[in-house]
Amino acid sequence: MQHHSSSGRFPLVAYVVSEELAKASSLLPSNKHRSLLVHSLVSALGVLSLVTLDHQKCFKVLRPRRATQKDLLSYHTRDYLEYALNPSSDYGDQAQISKYGLEDDCPPFRGMHEYIQLVAGATLTAVDAIKESLCDVAICWDGGRHHAQKSHASGFCYVADCVLAILALRRAVPSSVSPRKSRVMYLDLDLHFSDAVSQAFHNPSSTAMSQVLTLSIHHAAPGFFPVSPLSALPNPDDASFDPFTLSLPLREGASSQTFARIWPIVEGIKDIFLPDFIIVQCGVDGLAGDPTATWNWSLGGPGSLGWCIERVIQGWSGRKLLLGGGGYNSPNAARAWAFLTSIAAGKPLPLETQIPDHRAFPLYQPSFTLDVPAGNMQEQNSKEYLQHVEDIYERIQTILQQRLSGEGPP
Ligand SMILES: [Zn+2]
Repeated sequence: MQHHSSSGRFPLVAYVVSEELAKASSLLPSNKHRSLLVHSLVSALGVLSLVTLDHQKCFKVLRPRRATQKDLLSYHTRDYLEYALNPSSDYGDQAQISKYGLEDDCPPFRGMHEYIQLVAGATLTAVDAIKESLCDVAICWDGGRHHAQKSHASGFCYVADCVLAILALRRAVPSSVSPRKSRVMYLDLDLHFSDAVSQAFHNPSSTAMSQVLTLSIHHAAPGFFPVSPLSALPNPDDASFDPFTLSLPLREGASSQTFARIWPIVEGIKDIFLPDFIIVQCGVDGLAGDPTATWNWSLGGPGSLGWCIERVIQGWSGRKLLLGGGGYNSPNAARAWAFLTSIAAGKPLPLETQIPDHRAFPLYQPSFTLDVPAGNMQEQNSKEYLQHVEDIYERIQTILQQRLSGEGPP
């Protein structure tokens, strides 16, 4: 059956949610109740009922499947899964909990095994939807767990759904008739570096072209989580340099103006790599008002998070998967992801939209509107620093172009 997205006029968007998923995800210790808040606001605003000009529904709501052992084993180790997925595991055994990272910021929690299966399953449900061309855009706000490692939990993340998504899309057949293998671009907009995802695909020794390109825009400073040599601005002269594993670190106070300035770099990388599939990790901990208080990014206006996502949705060819991520001001996370959901359908809600009366309404004080405006933090990303970033990326683009055209290193 033909669906209207094949006309190219309107994107048909898949939105993954179920009550079971929202409840399981709301038990995540770092983001208690956030998932319920997000899905309730999306629903209260009526976003999922938006229709196109010819009265077609913009959204298809998909209930997540549960990830199977086989799904999870495509990246995670068997022993981590056996320990984390077994409700009768001994979480009092210090050696074991340290080995699997289930301590400090990743404590074992009630419903953890359900959470892991449902969140991975939710992202894979979204992946299946774009893989099978059921839609142009798929959304899974409960996914985007970019710190979870192969064999242990890390940084509030227990399951590596981003890596699982990339692995599944890398095996997919691209939409075009060309015989080339599919290319997957992973763009991470979270405040924190996508360490686990970048490491998983980092291959400094190869001179071949890669099917996967990761680009993380994040805050990096000495001691700032996660500590990784890959989080720095890449040095093309370094032995560990891989033009398919890219980082763009920003300093404190990063504002929409800074993002507007660096965005052509992101577009340039995309134009060279020409991905068939684009995964955007839309962590919202860089927005003003987040308790991490590091960046000063806003939701609307030129260079904002909404503006960047609109560029990807409207201007980039290839099918897109939008994932969640960090964001510790839960009402602002709900505002942001509800707004991005409307952008995915090509029908952005006005930022001055009033929060509708629903159970969580009082949490949206004092503004009671959708907007997440910038604060008054000082911008530390100087013109000189951004110029340096642009110069480095000019070299990176040349190298990337050479690698994709099979020329190899000069
Ligand atoms: Zn984060």
